[in-house]
Amino acid sequence: MSSPVQDISMICPSCHHTFTTWHRASLNLELDNFDEDYVRSATVKVCPQCKAEIHVNSLIVGRDGIWRVAIGENSKKYTLHEAMRIVLLEQPEHSATTQFLSDEIAERHLYRQKGGGIAHNGQIRIRAIKYARLFEMMDRDIVRLIEPKPVSE
Ligand SMILES: [Zn+2]
Repeated sequence: MSSPVQDISMICPSCHHTFTTWHRASLNLELDNFDEDYVRSATVKVCPQCKAEIHVNSLIVGRDGIWRVAIGENSKKYTLHEAMRIVLLEQPEHSATTQFLSDEIAERHLYRQKGGGIAHNGQIRIRAIKYARLFEMMDRDIVRLIEPKPVSE
């Protein structure tokens, strides 16, 4: 027998959004006839806010009853403008200073340069100007997200 389905609250490791999904602690593929799509939907959850794919084989439940991906398992990295979008989505008016974005992106390991360095506020500003369809500069230092939907390069 596979474990029964349970509803769980999860925190997205990328954008920290909390959402409800379902989970089975184990799937017995020999006894139960699950098809591939079912197994995938049981083991990969998609964050409704930032669309990050979260592999639930490394889920741990916290003392608050909320499930999180185990530390070290969140290896998904974003491009710099995707990381900026994720942080801005959570901010009032979808805007923040370039310094705040730099700090948040570094602290949450959303983006690193190839050499491992963090993106400084000057780079955030340059990226915001380059991706003018996504962002606008409200001021020298304040970036606003104008297109909240995910985009590819
Ligand atoms: Zn998310």
